[in-house]
Formats: sequence, structure tokens, C-alpha cells
Amino acid sequence: MINICVYNANYLFDRNIISVFNASFLYGINCFEGIRAYWNSDLKKLLVFDLDEHLNRLYDSISFLMFENVISKNELKSELLDLLSNGDVKENVYIRITFFIDGETSWADQNMISRVISVRSMASQLGSADAISLTISDYRRISNDTIPPAVKAGANYLNSRYALLDAKSKGFEGALFLNKNNYISESTGSCVFFIRGNVLYTPAVDCDILVGITRNRIIQLARENSIEFKETNIKVEDLDNFQAAFLVGTMIELKPISRIGHKFFDLDDHITKRLTKLLYNYVYGI
Ligand code: PMP
Repeated sequence: MINICVYNANYLFDRNIISVFNASFLYGINCFEGIRAYWNSDLKKLLVFDLDEHLNRLYDSISFLMFENVISKNELKSELLDLLSNGDVKENVYIRITFFIDGETSWADQNMISRVISVRSMASQLGSADAISLTISDYRRISNDTIPPAVKAGANYLNSRYALLDAKSKGFEGALFLNKNNYISESTGSCVFFIRGNVLYTPAVDCDILVGITRNRIIQLARENSIEFKETNIKVEDLDNFQAAFLVGTMIELKPISRIGHKFFDLDDHITKRLTKLLYNYVYGI
């Protein structure tokens, strides 16, 4: 079992303790990345899934939140890679890097920024037959003119929490958000894809989504393997035209959707299966 946690405190708050008066704790002001790393036992190699892409998004979030005096992207990358090699990680793990306001300062503080990196064991379910049932949430997705969803900030998950718990209370396993223009946006912690005929569809970047690293990898794999792909605006009425659908994200990896409300999907779809295999080979470097 791997369970590593390193708190790189801001120089003033080097106590491994977060105060109950801490602004990030009180207001959810932080940004983070969740990253999977896959252990290939044949190659005896740990492959961190799209690390540079995750770090690029993290530094976009840091800059949007105007966090200052932060370690450089390259230094952080070396720090993480050292942690993984010193920790002798030889299994599938989940890495979380969080930047937050340390100490007991204001929610508007820009300088007291500390970071925590944790690495813990996490099995992969990629390729399992499991599927998820979703409902369309009554909660709208946060938007660029309120809380930009493309910034991976902790407080964004309040929107996700409301929608997910509401969906569960209605007997579904997850929720799909519409944005304020009534277009399908994303799920509470993952992006969505649909299939019609042999064509793959996903909501466009301007549909108030977090631009998923897994989403972008699926798009790239589709392109490289001649699977026709369209990024577009999708309405609830369009759901009847799709025969299959799946979610993608770091936690959920790639999971077929069994139903959205009353619309049921094919769980034997060949494009979903093909993309699952392509993603599996990609993450294990096969
Ligand atoms: N949308 C939301 C709201 C998420 O929280 C996540 C998980 N980070 C995703 C999409 C998927 O993004 P990624 O593939 O980068 O994990």
C-alpha cells in the first residue's frame, strides 16, 4: 500500500497543521490536479498519465486564482518524479497536488501559497463491464461569468456536490449538467461522449466544461485511429439520436453510461469498446 503525503509549507507556516481560521479551509479556495499513474509490471515502469498536460492545466488554474510566489512548473515536476522514485511506487496510484492559501490570512491573499502532494494506491477499473446511470440535473453548470469551470478549483465541487446528491436521492448514480444555454455540459467529475452510427460526439469546450485531460486523450486516440469525431452543442432532445454514451475522467477512467433518465444506451457498443482498449494500451504504454 502506498500512502505518501508531503506538505510543502509556506515558510511562515511550517508546522504541518492547517488552522481552523485558514481561508482555503473556510472558503474552498484552492486549485489542484488529480493524476493517475499506472504500473506496467512487464516493463517494470510507472507511467504517469499525461503529466505535462495536467501540470499545464494546474499552472493555468494557479494563474487564474492569482496565486503568487509559487514554485516553477519544472521544479514541481522534478519534485513529484523524485517522490515517486524515492517512494518505490510499483502499483497503480492516484496523485493529488493541491495549492492553497496557508496560514490565517484573507481569502484574497495572493502570497501565502503552500502545496501538498499526496500519492496513494488506487486500483484501475478501466475495461470493467460496469456502467453508470445518470439523470439530467436541475442544477445548471457553473459558467465563465460566475465561477469558470475550466479552472480546477476546490470550490467548484459545491456545484458538483449539489447535483450528485440530488441525483442519488432520485435513485441515479450520477448527474449530467446542462449549461445556462440548455446544452449538455459535463458530469459532476467527468466529461461525456456520445456515439451515433460510427461517429463520436462530445460537448464543445465553450459548453462550460472542465477541459478534461482524459477527454483530450480520447479525442487524440480517436483521431489517430480514424474514428470520426465531432465537438458540438448537444441538447437533451438529441439524446434519442445516440446509441451509446460514456464518461471519461481521471477517477472514473472510461465508464459506459447505461441510461440518462428514460433513455437507455447500448452497453455492447463497438466504438466504446475500441476506445476503452486504446485508452488501456495508452495508459500502460502498450
Ligand atoms: N469535469 C469535471 C467537473 C471534473 O472534476 C473532472 C475530473 N478532473 C473532469 C471533467 C475530467 O477531467 P480529467 O480527465 O482531467 O480528470
